[in-house]
Amino acid sequence: MLADATIPLRKPIDGGHRPMFIDGQWVESLSGERLETRNPANGRLLATVPSGTKEDVDRAVKAARRAFHGPWSRMKPFERQALLLRIADLFEKHWEEISASDTQDMGLPISRTRANRLRVVGMLRYYAGMATAITGDTIRNSIPGDVFSMTVREPVGVVGAIIPWNAPTASSIWKIGPALATGCTIVLKPSEDAPLTPLLIADIMAEAGVPDGVVNIVTGTGASAGAALAEHPDVNKLVFTGSTLTGQAIVRASAIGPKRVSLELGGKSPLIICADADLDKAVPIAAMAVYAHSGQICIAGSRLFVEAPIHDEFVQRLVAFSKGLRIGDGMQADTQIGPVVSRRQLDKIMGYIEQGREGGAQLMTGGRQLTDADLAAGHFVEPTIFTDVEDDMVIAREEIFGPVISALRFEEVGDVIARANDTPYGLAAGVFTRDIGKAHRIASALQAGSVFVNGYHLLDPAVPFGGYKSSGYGREGGAEQIDGYLNTKAIWIDTN
Ligand code: NAD
Repeated sequence: MLADATIPLRKPIDGGHRPMFIDGQWVESLSGERLETRNPANGRLLATVPSGTKEDVDRAVKAARRAFHGPWSRMKPFERQALLLRIADLFEKHWEEISASDTQDMGLPISRTRANRLRVVGMLRYYAGMATAITGDTIRNSIPGDVFSMTVREPVGVVGAIIPWNAPTASSIWKIGPALATGCTIVLKPSEDAPLTPLLIADIMAEAGVPDGVVNIVTGTGASAGAALAEHPDVNKLVFTGSTLTGQAIVRASAIGPKRVSLELGGKSPLIICADADLDKAVPIAAMAVYAHSGQICIAGSRLFVEAPIHDEFVQRLVAFSKGLRIGDGMQADTQIGPVVSRRQLDKIMGYIEQGREGGAQLMTGGRQLTDADLAAGHFVEPTIFTDVEDDMVIAREEIFGPVISALRFEEVGDVIARANDTPYGLAAGVFTRDIGKAHRIASALQAGSVFVNGYHLLDPAVPFGGYKSSGYGREGGAEQIDGYLNTKAIWIDTN
């Protein structure tokens, strides 16, 4: 352990080492092992972090358990609310540092990480409100005599949270926020590809006065720290965001305990452009529904269904829009498309592009890794559009998590709904039409947790977000999420 709980993160990201955060202390892994995290725009080493093990996870869970039963459990809702509001103010104050950390660690352009401030600070303030809005019921029962029944809502206990690399700040707050609002404690394992902002968040939590052990961040790999957290018998609830494959492993591990689970998993979201759509609005939104964050977005509208009469014009305009996007290091203010997170992700995306070509789809633009002098050391993929895509092609069925749009032609709205729903996933979907009746009919027929009409990427802390089918279960945002962090206890009083 370090000698004191000084703040080791308030220094430039310069290739140095950053410990992890357990029980209010900045600590090393008991194994002494470390992981590197690199800037995907140029390959430079940003920092090393501890490679947490089963033993590290165990001491974090023990700290979280102690904290759960300690003074934290006696903190009143309005005190937890005040704490969350303090954290929100500190996020405002440190937002430039947070956004630069996210951009350097995972590539999302700084204009976007800066713009995420409203949403993330809004989430913290929303959870602050929810802290004082937790209620139970009194319920009339049919038992003879005077027997009263009521419910109280209690925090579930220790929460284990495992998050991916594509939105480290929002993913962290989507889990830490409800834990603090309800009185739970939490052990969060960030992705090995983007661990720096969650550590910075721990730092802000300490600055806000979050008691020791209430929020713990254990860095490490999925196979080691992640699996240990998922299996830990003293974790009461697992909240996971990541791929469907890993989600299945999480569910299996959750049998130990057993634990409550909520899963935010992958997607292959359909976006339907009807012939009567406002194309000036639809073209840039359809493009950025995928290209934002170079396609590394769970709700990417990567299956683009375009109605036959406008198909060719729409694709042409989409290609022109794609060619005009500025690609580069996310730290440059005018960059619109940053790198993908890692060499592994780049190779995976290039493999899908190859499969698209081989499968007979027509490449309309993009399809290359960018190797210009200033980009060669990074992982950059051109915005890519395929047409003549058939529903059963690999690029139309599997989540690519890269800047690749598969355009599919449709003749009838009735057919396109069945085709849009013909996927194991159900995270999001979208439709562009000027006909409000048609919009309603399509929105209610689509099997997805979020349906966007004449827009995309609309998210708000008060509105539930989550999946149907293989995209997961449970919701983040909204009152339903708070329920997931609470147990309901029925209390009976027999006054006879
Ligand atoms: P991933 O599943 O590979 O990793 C996610 C996290 O799980 C990481 O922290 C990783 O270390 C950990 N992990 C890996 N194996 C584990 C195991 N066996 N046990 C426990 N933890 C383990 O996903 P990724 O590549 O980091 O992220 C991309 C995926 O996340 C995509 O599928 C994307 O759609 C999904 N995602 C979903 C949402 C959503 O809200 N639905 C949001 C963002 C990303």
